[in-house]
Amino acid sequence: MAEAPIQPWDRPAPEREGRPCAWSLLPEDLAELGCPGSALETFKRLHRPWTWKDGAPDLGPAIRRWLEGVADLRLPALVDGQPSSDGATKLVLELADGRRIEAVHMPRPVRNPRVTYCLSSQVGCAMGCTFCATGSMGILRNLQAGEILGQVLTLMAGLGPARGHELTLVFMGMGEPLHNLDHLHRAIRLLCHPAGLGLGKGRITVSTSGLVSGIERLSKLEPRPLLALSLNATTDAARNRTMPVNRVWNLARLRRALDDWGLKRGEKFCFEYVLLAGENDTEADADRLAAWLGDLRRAHNLNLIPMNEHAASPFRQPGEARVQQFAEWLKVRGCFVTVRRSRGRDVQGACGQLVKGS
Ligand code: SF4
Repeated sequence: MAEAPIQPWDRPAPEREGRPCAWSLLPEDLAELGCPGSALETFKRLHRPWTWKDGAPDLGPAIRRWLEGVADLRLPALVDGQPSSDGATKLVLELADGRRIEAVHMPRPVRNPRVTYCLSSQVGCAMGCTFCATGSMGILRNLQAGEILGQVLTLMAGLGPARGHELTLVFMGMGEPLHNLDHLHRAIRLLCHPAGLGLGKGRITVSTSGLVSGIERLSKLEPRPLLALSLNATTDAARNRTMPVNRVWNLARLRRALDDWGLKRGEKFCFEYVLLAGENDTEADADRLAAWLGDLRRAHNLNLIPMNEHAASPFRQPGEARVQQFAEWLKVRGCFVTVRRSRGRDVQGACGQLVKGS
C-alpha cells in the first residue's frame, strides 16, 4: 500500500530532522539507540521531574553526553504566564523552532490537591470552528509526541504538582487532538508508562470536534483515554455553519461513532456545548440535544459552556438567565447537566480563547 504523503503541518521542526526528541523515546527506543546504562533507569530519570536537579534530569555525565549526541534534549520553554483571579494560570510555551503554544494550569484546592493541565496538541488548528480563537489562526503544525510530553514536564517542573498522581490532563487547548493522533497517542503511552509519570488512562481526556475517523481509530488503541466531544449545535445546518467538520461527518454519523466506541465499565463520555446567544440556545435546541444524546443523556456529563467572547468571533455569550433556562430545559428532559464556568477567562485562557501560538 502506498504511504500517505507527509502533510506540510506534519513535518518535524527543522532543527529536529534526523534527530529524535529525547522526550518521545520509550525505554526500548533508548536501548535500541545504544544507551550505555540502563535504558529503563534513564527513562525514569527523564520522565520524573521530582527526581530532577536544578530544573533538568539528573542523568550523570556519561549518559547525558551520549543522549545529547543521539537526541534533542530541549524542552519547551515557559515564556509567559498570566495568573487569573480564579487561580488558573494561562501559560505560553516556546518550542524549539520558536513557535508558541498555550496551556492552562488549573489547581484544585480540594482535600487531596489536584492540578489539571489544559494542553495543546497542535500549533493552531485546521478545523475552523467559527466561535474559536485558535480556529481563526489556521494550522501551523502538529506537535510531536516529545513536545506534548515536554509541555507536561515543563509545567510540572515550573509550577507543580510535584508528582504524577496529582495530575489530570485534558487536551482542550490549541488544536484538534485527533488530527494529530499518531503523536498524541505516543504521548499518551509515554505519560502512562509506569516508569515515567505513570498516569492512569482515566486521568487523560481527549476532546474532539467530531473527527469521526480519529474517534474510530482511538477507540481501538491502548491505553485508551477518556473522550470528550465538543457538540455545540443540534441540527446539521447549524453545525455546518459553526463547525465545518460536520460537513464531512454529520450528527447522525457522529452519534454512530459513539455507539461503536464500546464503552467499558466505569468509562464515561463528556459532552461540551458552547452556548452562543441566538444561535444554539433555544428550547428547540435543548429538545434536539436531549434526543441526540438519547440513552447517553442520564449517565454522561453534558457541560454547558457560555461562549467566551473574543474579537475574532461574531458570536456573543447568552445572558445568565438564558444559560440557567437552557440548563433547566435539559434537566427536565433527563440530561445530566453542569454549567462550566471556564477558568482563566479574565486572561483569555478559557475554552476557545487560546491563540498566541504563531
Ligand atoms: S474548537 Fe477545537 S477543533 Fe474547533 S477550531 Fe478551536 S481548537 Fe480547533
